[in-house]
Amino acid sequence: MEVPFLDLKAQHQSIKSKILPKWEEILENAAFVGGPHLDAFEKRFAEHCGAEQCIAVGNGTDALQLIFDALGIGHGDEVIVPDNTFIATAEAVSKVGGTPVFVDVLPDTYNIDPEKVEAAITPKTKCIVPVHLYGQTADMDTILEIGNRHGIFVVEDSAQAHLAEYKGRRAGSMGIAAGFSFYPGKNLGACGEAGAITTSDLDLAARIRQLRDHGSSQKYVHQQVGYNSRCDALQAAALLVKLDHLPAWNEARRANARLYLGQLEAEEGIRLPIVNRDCLPVWHLFVIQVEDRNAVQRELRDRGIATALHYPIPLHMQEAYKFLGYDRGAFPVTESYTERLLSLPMYPELSADQIHYVCENVKELVAGKPVSKGVALAG
Ligand SMILES: *Cc1c(COP(=O)(O)O)cnc(C)c1O
Repeated sequence: MEVPFLDLKAQHQSIKSKILPKWEEILENAAFVGGPHLDAFEKRFAEHCGAEQCIAVGNGTDALQLIFDALGIGHGDEVIVPDNTFIATAEAVSKVGGTPVFVDVLPDTYNIDPEKVEAAITPKTKCIVPVHLYGQTADMDTILEIGNRHGIFVVEDSAQAHLAEYKGRRAGSMGIAAGFSFYPGKNLGACGEAGAITTSDLDLAARIRQLRDHGSSQKYVHQQVGYNSRCDALQAAALLVKLDHLPAWNEARRANARLYLGQLEAEEGIRLPIVNRDCLPVWHLFVIQVEDRNAVQRELRDRGIATALHYPIPLHMQEAYKFLGYDRGAFPVTESYTERLLSLPMYPELSADQIHYVCENVKELVAGKPVSKGVALAG
């Protein structure tokens, strides 16, 4: 049996007939930028997230960068980000001139550790960026309380958490603003690149709207130095079609997660993802821990099962961030995971038979190799 890590072809088969007429209409009218599809998508995505405004942009990294820029974050400012995330979270900080300050994650949910956030705050700290990693929201009440108490912004990186919930509130409705990615493999993916910002701060929304379009609200009149980061009409039309399916797709991911959890539960060689009871996750990824991960991954590949690593190198150990001067051992929790993490196939169209096949093979490969519990220092 073949089990791909992600099967985007299957997803688009089911909705192609709804997207193509819209794309044909856009081609007929040659209305490629802005327009009714974009307006409709922004309105509906904001509603889905429980935010007042949505501003669609070129990609998820730009979404974060535009937020930081619009909040006035720049040279000399520190922004706290988790060490275990995709590099885009930190890149967006660097690109506005700020300094990312990495913080370790919690050993159970992989999300940023609020106690360590508190400890990392200095007079230069301007913002905390919880990433709702793998589709589960961070401990938002605690983080928002820390932000309030210190008078610093909280910006959600919601790139992996479209419609995820925390105590009934949606990702993208809790911080001052949130960045979303619609990279094709995300829970809501464009047919190319796109991203969005959600916020209920109307002034901030207006500044971001200007920034995405060369700092302009009126053609050739520029109030500020901005960016070219618009979302085109073809992407907006596809996203609008796909948004209608998103709740059902997320539900299918949750059903798949239940199958995985049920079938892998009794296996001492596997550490399963832990769901915080305050959260309704959307399972962007299903990440387990196993010993001898590289060997397990290779053997699964030979048996037709594709897996992935999120993430193989923590941010503080990336060449790109060597200049920040972090040492190996600085973030023991993240470092201890790195060599054990394994992302199993996860997408709505995954069949029960495929999940069963994955589980049987993973169990066979890890049998008799219990996952070490301690937080061991790497290196
Ligand atoms: C995908 C992703 C981004 C960046 O989104 P792009 O659309 O690829 O620029 C940012 N943060 C996280 C956590 C992501 O997973």
